[in-house]
Amino acid sequence: MQEKWQQATQVIHAGHIPNEHGALVTPLCQSATFVFDNAEQGGARFAGEEPGFIYTRLGNPTTAELERKIAALEGSDCAAATASGMAAVSAALLANLQNGDHLIASNAVYGCTFALMNSQLAKFGIEVSLVDFSRLDEIEAAIKPNTKVLFCETPVNPHLKVFDLDAIARIAKAYKLVSVVDNTFMTPLLQQPIKHGIDIVIHSATKYLNGHGDVIAGVVCSSREQMDVIKYEVLKDIGGVISPHDAWLILRGLKTLDVRLQRHCDSAERVAEFLEGHSKVSKVYYPGLKTHCGNGLVGHQMKRAGGVIAFELEADLQASIKFINQLELFSIAVSLGDAESLIQHPASMTHSPYSPEEREKAGITDNLLRISIGLEAVEDIIFALDKGLAAL
Ligand SMILES: *Cc1c(COP(=O)(O)O)cnc(C)c1O
Repeated sequence: MQEKWQQATQVIHAGHIPNEHGALVTPLCQSATFVFDNAEQGGARFAGEEPGFIYTRLGNPTTAELERKIAALEGSDCAAATASGMAAVSAALLANLQNGDHLIASNAVYGCTFALMNSQLAKFGIEVSLVDFSRLDEIEAAIKPNTKVLFCETPVNPHLKVFDLDAIARIAKAYKLVSVVDNTFMTPLLQQPIKHGIDIVIHSATKYLNGHGDVIAGVVCSSREQMDVIKYEVLKDIGGVISPHDAWLILRGLKTLDVRLQRHCDSAERVAEFLEGHSKVSKVYYPGLKTHCGNGLVGHQMKRAGGVIAFELEADLQASIKFINQLELFSIAVSLGDAESLIQHPASMTHSPYSPEEREKAGITDNLLRISIGLEAVEDIIFALDKGLAAL
């Protein structure tokens, strides 16, 4: 039945199991361990012969409800909730890579994902090639006999380039590689990579899924076979699992995901058009704009363009920093998907680990700003930007 429900209904009802008290809202099961009726039962649970909870690092009823809901939304067999988006990325990669293996990732990825690949995985003898995922020939040319995984995000920070998931899944299947997509910027309501043939989807649930800026968490979605390794080997032994309290907060946040995203997208579309028409803005990066290179996939691969916009000011570094400092309404903060509108300066913040040459190559100029459109009245958001731009 559940598969027939629309996602706006699923965010509220999918995965819910009635509880013994008849509480409408899923009770928070804040317990580290679970008591067995007798020693035989404990043995049977450890042997996997009897279902039931053992210890919260291995599974918890509140966390399990979140996992069922996200799996229903992404259209995957299973999901595992993690302590952060990075715990989700690392679990997906560690489950599929070992010493001597090779990974191909998009040359633009989230900063800590970049660091994980280049510093942490390198320590364990895992090789990485970074290529432009909009060039399918470059991906194929980078494949070697020891390549195991393809990894990308779409749309990707900060220029919101969009990659073709059907084509990436096709390459992965042809060469028997595991494809992993970070779907944080879209959420399953705007894009379902598994439906395009992608093997593993990860999220930073810190962003839109929770939506209230009060939790750090992540989620990995995959087939049952993959999940046996991701959850019951890697997460169990490395330990980056979610706290049941955080899972409970995300379950609460998820109920409004559909309504929130409609507002985020409606407002971002209007703000992007406003910025594009402003003389003090030299370039706007938003896939919802006809002028953006990713626009062709909006309405198909991605239902709408999301709530994040990047733009370049007609200004130097000093004036760009002054613009940020004087901007009303926007909080100066990294992250995205919150009720509050946020602004950040990629060159000195999210992309500061890049050298000036790397930044130049990646097009991260001193006048590039990234905003996450919040849930405030769009007229107020535009008013604040207009006032800030007038003062430039
Ligand atoms: C924030 C983010 C992450 C990391 O998530 P955390 O919850 O901060 O660990 C990974 N990928 C993308 C695209 C992100 O925006």
